[in-house]
Amino acid sequence: MTALLEVEDLRVAYGKIEAVKGISFSVEAGQIVTLIGTNGAGKTTTLRTLSGLLKPVGGRILFDGQPLTGVPAHKIVSLGLAHSPEGRHIFPRLTITENLLLGAYLRNDKAGIEKDVQRAYDLFPILGERRKQAAGTLSGGEQQMLAMGRALMSQPKLLMLDEPSMGLSPIMMQKIMETIVELKAAGTTILLVEQNAQAALSLADQGHVMEVGKVVLSGTGADLLHDESVRKAYLGED
Ligand code: ATP
Repeated sequence: MTALLEVEDLRVAYGKIEAVKGISFSVEAGQIVTLIGTNGAGKTTTLRTLSGLLKPVGGRILFDGQPLTGVPAHKIVSLGLAHSPEGRHIFPRLTITENLLLGAYLRNDKAGIEKDVQRAYDLFPILGERRKQAAGTLSGGEQQMLAMGRALMSQPKLLMLDEPSMGLSPIMMQKIMETIVELKAAGTTILLVEQNAQAALSLADQGHVMEVGKVVLSGTGADLLHDESVRKAYLGED
């Protein structure tokens, strides 16, 4: 079986500095796959490259059997790969509904778009309650929900989430993690980048540990959660 996403020996550099040094991993349809690792490991760089925002210096990316190298970012969205970026990047002056609609900018099926806006409100009721308010009035956690809702508006086959738990209260984080599991149950494949290794590995089918631009360990979420080196380095155990 071919995976939905296959990354082979991917290399990405900022000028002379190689931030991603030849990583390989795959994401099977229907799975949650997580990339964990400390600051600067290259996780965000990897997602930005998969989205077409950065150009790799080497390696291969296959999405749904199609090579992504050299494909522009908007085309990548239309192929079914959506990105909810780190730091959220919502539009603070636009309303919540307007922000959601921006996620559907490549679609023109009006009825389907309306249905998906409703689905975002069902997933995150706070967004529905405040739909006419400027998105900048939302709390950090609510903005994270909006960013996820907006990414879903492109009806992605693969949803990439960059640190969805960043800066959230434990309750908000729990809510986001539950939503990720719900999205998987509804058929969305997810690539999750997280610094919160405990939360990410608890729900991931597969995980990859990144350190300074390389994948140093891979396994099922459960295996990594019980791995002694992971527990020491990422789960704060002695
Ligand atoms: P974090 O969780 O802190 O975002 P990360 O694993 O996502 O970490 P990246 O953001 O991908 O890591 O960064 C990987 C390396 O690339 C780091 O050393 C970082 O300083 C460097 N880097 C990231 N963006 C740029 C840039 N625009 N120009 C130069 N170097 C960069």
